[in-house]
Amino acid sequence: MSLILPQSLYDDLRAHGEATYPNECCGILLGNADTDALRVTQLLRAGNTRTDSAHNRYNIAPSELIAAQRQARNSGLDIVGFYHSHPDHPAQWSPTDFAEAHWFGCAYVITAVPKGHATDTNSFLLTGTTEDDKRFEPQPIVVE
Ligand SMILES: [Zn+2]
Repeated sequence: MSLILPQSLYDDLRAHGEATYPNECCGILLGNADTDALRVTQLLRAGNTRTDSAHNRYNIAPSELIAAQRQARNSGLDIVGFYHSHPDHPAQWSPTDFAEAHWFGCAYVITAVPKGHATDTNSFLLTGTTEDDKRFEPQPIVVE
């Protein structure tokens, strides 16, 4: 299961992480899922609502998520993933990222932003069916 992104959206989610540095950015990926790929066609930037520790925590407000679901449905799309940045940390998921991931079948995209400049971008597919058997699996990102 790969994640397919247009170049413009790939650039945009990375630029978002640079813009919010040294805080994390976050956002929602809309598109369509087929049998072997998640295809992203829209990106929604979200405000980082964590005020306690915005540099290493991210959160998407429930109201933003509901608005994103409505926008997706109106466009014939689904929420296929989420993205956030890791200022001065590698593009690998953290225990908190894993604990707070609940959308099975969705992509969780993380961009490392050392010193304010986006470097690695990785995606992890949340597999499983329950909180007990869920796993993050690295997935290829295809930029086209
Ligand atoms: Zn994270």
